[in-house]
Amino acid sequence: MAYQALYRVWRPQRFEDMIGQGVITRTLKNAITTNQISHAYLFAGPRGTGKTSAAKIFAKAINCHHQVDGEPCNECETCRAITDGTLNDVIEIDAASNNGVEEIRDIRDKVKYAPTVADYKVYIIDEVHMLSTGAFNALLKTLEEPPANVIFILATTEPHKIPATIISRTQRFDFKRIAASDSYERMIYILNQKDVTYDEQAVKVIAKAAEGGMRDALSILDQALSFGDNEITLDNALLVTGSVAHELLATFVGQTLAGDTKAALATLQSVLEAGKDAERFTEDIIGYARDLLLYQQAPQLVEEAEMGSVSDDFQALAKQTPAQTMYAMINELNAIQQQMRYTTHPDVYLEILTIKLAEIGQQQGQPAPTPTVAAAPVAEPAAVKVLQREVEQLQQTVKQLQATPAAATTATPAAKPKPRVAKSSGTKEVNLAKVYPVLGSATREKLNQLQEVWPDLLNSLSVTQRAVMKVSQPVAAADSGVIVAFDYSFLYQRATTDNELTDALENGLDRMIGTALPVVFVPKDEWPVIRKNYLAAHQAELQDHSDSEAPKQPETAPIVSKAEELFGKDIVEVKPD
Ligand SMILES: [Zn+2]
Repeated sequence: MAYQALYRVWRPQRFEDMIGQGVITRTLKNAITTNQISHAYLFAGPRGTGKTSAAKIFAKAINCHHQVDGEPCNECETCRAITDGTLNDVIEIDAASNNGVEEIRDIRDKVKYAPTVADYKVYIIDEVHMLSTGAFNALLKTLEEPPANVIFILATTEPHKIPATIISRTQRFDFKRIAASDSYERMIYILNQKDVTYDEQAVKVIAKAAEGGMRDALSILDQALSFGDNEITLDNALLVTGSVAHELLATFVGQTLAGDTKAALATLQSVLEAGKDAERFTEDIIGYARDLLLYQQAPQLVEEAEMGSVSDDFQALAKQTPAQTMYAMINELNAIQQQMRYTTHPDVYLEILTIKLAEIGQQQGQPAPTPTVAAAPVAEPAAVKVLQREVEQLQQTVKQLQATPAAATTATPAAKPKPRVAKSSGTKEVNLAKVYPVLGSATREKLNQLQEVWPDLLNSLSVTQRAVMKVSQPVAAADSGVIVAFDYSFLYQRATTDNELTDALENGLDRMIGTALPVVFVPKDEWPVIRKNYLAAHQAELQDHSDSEAPKQPETAPIVSKAEELFGKDIVEVKPD
C-alpha cells in the first residue's frame, strides 16, 4: 500500500478529535443535538486549522442516524460514504479550481432536487473567496432562497474577500491558529500510536514551525520521519524546518544586544553556512525578540508557548534587556523583513541587519553581556565614538526642536528621538571635491586593474569591514584615487564614517598595486547623476576647445568617447537590485 500522509491518516473524524477549536466544535455539536441547524455556515481561519475537517464531520453528524451528542458514529454506511467522499449528497467544491459561474449555476439548477440518500444535501465550498463576482451573485441568489434540507458550508482563509451580502446570510465561525502546545500534544499522541521514537525537543521545534496549522505540523513531521529511520531527532527537525537552534539564536541576540558586531557577524556566518534560509532566520529572531518582550510582561505565557522549556540564557536576556531596546530591535527586524522580500541578496540584508541590531544594542543602555558571550569585548572604539557624537548631535537637535514652538507643534506628541540610523540616512553628502579630480584623470585601464584586485582586497579586511564592503565596487579610477559605489545607502553611510576602514583599504591597495590609492565612496543610486553633472561641466570645456579648431564637429562625439574612456560601456548603466 502506498504511503499515506500523516495528515490524511490522522484527519479528525469526530469533533472531539479536533485540536484547539473547542468553542466551535461545542457550538456545532450543540446545534446538532438541539436541531438548530442553519442553512449556511462560514468557516474562516488560517490554513490547516480544521475548517474542511469540521465541515465533513458536520455533514456526517447531521446525516448519521446513530449520532450521539452531536458526534457521527463513523461506522454506518452514510458516515463511511461521506468519509470516502462517495456520497452524492455531500458535494465538495474547491473554488480555487472551479471558480467559474457555470459551476455555481450548476449548483443552482441541482439544489432544487431533494437529497437522494441522506437527510441533508451539503455543499462544502473550499476557498470560497476565489469565486468570481458572477459566481458570488449566483451563490447569493441560492442563499437568498435556500431550498429545504440543503446546507452550505463556505470555507475560506480570506473572509475579507467575500462580499458582505454573502457573509450576512451565513453563520460565521472563526477558526483560531492552533497553539503550539496543542499541536505538540497531538503529534506526541500520533507518534506514540505509531510507535516512533522521538526527541521531545524536536517535536517542539516542529510544533512552533508549523505556526498554528495542524496540517502543516503533520506535513513537517512526515518529512522529519522520512529523514530518520522511524525516529524524530532534533537535528532532523531543525533541518526540515530550517529553524535555528534555540541556543544559536540566544547567542546571536546576546551578541547584538552586547553591541558586539564582530561576534554577531561570525555567528550569522555560521548560520548561513549551515544552509539556513535568511528569511527563516529573520523570522526566528523576530519570534525570539517578541518572546523576550512578552516574558518581561507575562512569563507564564511564554512558558506555556515554549511548552515549559525556557532556557537560562533566555531568562538572563529577558532580565537584562530594557523593553525599549527590544521594541527598537523588532522595528528594525520588521523593516528589514519587508525589504528582504524584494531582494536577490537576502544574506546582505542580514548582515546589514546584524550591524544595525548591534548598533541598537550599543546605543541603548549598557552592553548586556549574556552567559554565552560573557567575555565579549565591545567591538570597535572608533564606532562607539562616532555613535556618541551622533547621539550628542541628536540630543542637540531635540533641544532645538523643543525650543522652537513652531517645530514643537509639528513634532509627534511623544517627541521620541528617532533611531540613529533612520535620522542620519540620506543626509551624508557626497564629497564632490574628492570625486571630480579622480574623474578628471580616470582611465579604463586603471579601473580594470582595480576591479581585478577588488575581491582580494575585500578578503584582506576584517569580518565587520568585509560585511560593509561586500556590495561595493570600483566604478572609476585614476592614478590619484578610486571611486567606490555602494548598492545600499546604509552601507555607504557606514563606510564614509569609518576611518579605520578607509585606512585598511588604502593599506591593502598599497600592498597589492604598490600605491596607497585614496578611496572615495559614493552611493550607487547617486552615481549616474554625479557622473552626468561632471560630464556636463566637462562638455563645456570640450566644446570651447572644439569650437576654436573644428566648429562643425558634432559635439557629442568627444563626450561619448570620454565617457567610455572613463567608465567603459559595461558599467555606464546602473543595474537595479
Ligand atoms: Zn453514522
